Amino acid sequence: MKEEMAKEVRLTPIRNGTVIDHIACGQALNVLKILGINDQNIYSSISVGIHVGSSTLGGWKDIVKIEDIEIDHKDAERIALVAPDATISIVRDFSVAEKYSVKLGERVIGLARCSNPNCITNKGEPVLPEFRVVSKYPVQLRCCYCDRILTNVSDNLM
Ligand code: ZN
Repeated sequence: MKEEMAKEVRLTPIRNGTVIDHIACGQALNVLKILGINDQNIYSSISVGIHVGSSTLGGWKDIVKIEDIEIDHKDAERIALVAPDATISIVRDFSVAEKYSVKLGERVIGLARCSNPNCITNKGEPVLPEFRVVSKYPVQLRCCYCDRILTNVSDNLM
């Protein structure tokens, strides 16, 4: 029991910001990528836990804590692309002010590339890749231009 407690506090609690929990193992960096966070635009502290103990996700999960930024539901929809089981907690003054699960919408526009090299979206035309969500477990997207099904979304993030 004591050991379990220690695992839970491995990442230090944050005063204000967002905790993205129950990310599928290995997807934490893709979550940061899909949020558009990179070394050019980090203005607050971010803690990333990869392969930390979890009682619900088959033993292991990733977790991301972003200080002083509250992500919105649009961001949560993006996160669902690579981490469909993730939960979002908005933290204010060390307590959880809002908590919800991510949810994938019907369409995904401008977030992933089509895997068909001959697709018009890969030909340098001013066309944003657009997909219809055909499956959420696992995430499968159908290209609106060439009908190719994209299954490995995290490898094709823009
Ligand atoms: Zn396509």
